[in-house]
Amino acid sequence: MNTQPITSAAPLPILDIIKEALAKQHYQMVYQPQFGFADGRLKGFEALVRCQSPRFGMISPADFIPFAEESGDIIELGHWITRQSLLDLKNLRELSGLPLYMSINISPCQFQAGDVYEHVMKTLMDMNLPASAVKLELTETALIQNPSMIGRTFKAFQRDGVQVWLDDFGTGFASLNLLREFKIDGLKIDKSFVDGLHTSDDDFTICSAIIAMAQRLGLNIVAEGVETEPQMHILSQLGCNSVQGYLTGRPTPLDECSHFWLENRFIN
Ligand code: C2E
Ligand code: CA
Ligand code: CA
Repeated sequence: MNTQPITSAAPLPILDIIKEALAKQHYQMVYQPQFGFADGRLKGFEALVRCQSPRFGMISPADFIPFAEESGDIIELGHWITRQSLLDLKNLRELSGLPLYMSINISPCQFQAGDVYEHVMKTLMDMNLPASAVKLELTETALIQNPSMIGRTFKAFQRDGVQVWLDDFGTGFASLNLLREFKIDGLKIDKSFVDGLHTSDDDFTICSAIIAMAQRLGLNIVAEGVETEPQMHILSQLGCNSVQGYLTGRPTPLDECSHFWLENRFIN
């Protein structure tokens, strides 16, 4: 995997790679499971995109998404991600017999392009999936870029039963104000706070405060980046709703996802 910044001395021709990947279907989706603390059962997945370039190997989304946003290619890529991950969700629900959801990352540009609502709702309809089968993940940065337009789209999604979640909570700006202005369904506690949960008093205090606040506001909480049993244990004690991280399951291609409901992977 390329771990070098794209802007380093020998940059990858990233825009060519993005366009080639779109044209030649070098993108693929992987799915990371989320388990509920209350019963230890699989609840759903987060959809994460990968780019496997034949010339440059695996490129991380953290590297190519910002360039796809800048060039506008994120719109076409976002459409593909929504369609592919909901098609795969349909398979996962049929195979498992569970009412699983798919949590999809939406870039601010997709909101600004104006068709994200129509596209998601049409794809749900094409796949014959209920609105409750999809959750959208947005970052704080996305919300503050165009609050009035995003607010309208938000309302439309929620009126139709699609949940909207705040990703990387606590790492952006204006978090508390956003909670007041938008009717958010849930928060994802960022990995950077979870990392030090069992070793740093400050991180413990921040996580407990986020969870207590979310509970009082009636919001659900997923902790992400959970890698160790002590982190898992503390999150469970604090009343966190769901867990996502390498401890309970790494991002996995569709054909390997059945492990997540066939084996009990939940450690508590
Ligand atoms: P994110 O939305 O915060 O996604 C979580 C990232 O944390 C994923 O990295 C996931 O593989 C990683 N992760 C999960 N659990 C653990 C853990 O226990 N330990 C560690 N070290 N990492 C963990 P990934 O897949 O490389 O994605 C990076 C970022 O790229 C995402 O951060 C998201 O901002 C963006 N991204 C990924 N897929 C998509 C997509 O389909 N659409 C959009 N717009 N952005 C995406
Ligand atoms: Ca996310
Ligand atoms: Ca995140």
